[in-house]
Amino acid sequence: QPSDILDSLASSIEEKNGSVGAYLSHDLDTAKKEANQADLSLPLGGIPIAIKDNINVKGQPCSCGSKFLDGAYNAPYDATVIARLREAGAVPFGRANMDEFAMGSTTENSALGKTSNPHDVTRTPGGSSGGSAAAVASHTAIAALGSDTGGSIRQPASHCGVVGLKPSYGRVSRYGLVAFASSLDQIGPLTHTVEDAALMLNAISGYDAADSTSSDHDVPDFTQGLDQGVAGMKLGLPKEYFGEGIDPEVRKTVDASIAKLEAQGAELVEISLPNTEYAVATYYIIAPAEASSNLSRFDGVRYGNRVEQPEDVLDLYRRSREQGFGPEVKRRIILGTYVLSSGYYDAYYNRAQKVRTLIRQDFENAYQKVDAILSPVAPSAAPLLGADKDNPLQQYLADIYTISANLAGICGISVPAGTVTSENNTQLPVGLQILGPHMGEQKLLQIARAAE
Ligand code: GLN
Repeated sequence: QPSDILDSLASSIEEKNGSVGAYLSHDLDTAKKEANQADLSLPLGGIPIAIKDNINVKGQPCSCGSKFLDGAYNAPYDATVIARLREAGAVPFGRANMDEFAMGSTTENSALGKTSNPHDVTRTPGGSSGGSAAAVASHTAIAALGSDTGGSIRQPASHCGVVGLKPSYGRVSRYGLVAFASSLDQIGPLTHTVEDAALMLNAISGYDAADSTSSDHDVPDFTQGLDQGVAGMKLGLPKEYFGEGIDPEVRKTVDASIAKLEAQGAELVEISLPNTEYAVATYYIIAPAEASSNLSRFDGVRYGNRVEQPEDVLDLYRRSREQGFGPEVKRRIILGTYVLSSGYYDAYYNRAQKVRTLIRQDFENAYQKVDAILSPVAPSAAPLLGADKDNPLQQYLADIYTISANLAGICGISVPAGTVTSENNTQLPVGLQILGPHMGEQKLLQIARAAE
């Protein structure tokens, strides 16, 4: 019974939210009522889902992990993904913690709370969808929604030992997702199994007139053919993704998972994605540029935080933004404004757009030869809390394996590959990343199922 599931979630949340801190808030009473009324014949009938705090759920807070919106904004409408989850019978019940406005890789940029890795509470859950990944991994949600602009679903899924799917750009409507970098953002599921990811994708996919970038591409039943296996498939190993910089233990775990696919009849092919070395630089120009524009709506007038007694309108903007945004968000806004400024636009933003095209072409060329691409998700397992706090550049560099998929608009998934032993003798999960061509989710999920 759905209400039994909610009762058991309620007790695990009580037991674990203190140490893990996956949720900023939740409303279990309302969820229980909704679950009791749910039509159990629906694919997700009565299933409670944790929602990243940047996706609007009518009547619930939507603070994006920011002081700017904390206690000052309740969503006036359901995002399209939420409306679609409800149509499939699901119950969105809790707000999952995240890096402020999804900028970060450890969830430590949240201004509103700390989230730990359920496998080792001295470590981060990854980010920016760290709350969503920790909620699933700590069994305090059956599934969760996150958003992935540069790895923010796949990387925390890898660090927390769950499945995380970034759909192809345009597959899932962004209407009701608070925009970070609109040309890169996609909403996707974090789940225990590949089959659950397929069920969630079934529910949330498809054209939406409210998002001008949503695609009218066919939405197949993603659960169909999941068990067909990988025999005869060609899987590419990009040499740029297996070079230096990757932790040897992580490498071993990923290799073992790749060997498992080979043993099931897949053919491994070495490939090259020659523009990989420019991906981090390209992403950290384009994402901040779009963020600086998107975040201009937070001006102290329209949403959230507004300072008392401003001297004039400039003072209102300036002080509301000064108080509302944290350091990483400010860093991105400054960077983004700089690369878009008239003197530097051609040297940085325009050039980054050209390199983005080259990165996309690298993938198009690769998919002439292979069905999908295999790689690590991140160079190391979950870092200790506080480890990279004062070193944003170090964090940016660790996005190397995930951000190209967003720049290219293709789909990608992280599937648990195994664990590595940390210095303090805990077992830390590591994911295998599988990247498929644009709109290639069906085959992607089939490969992921075989890797499970
Ligand atoms: N680490 C990336 C960033 O900070 C991830 C962002 C994301 O996917 N939301 O921009």
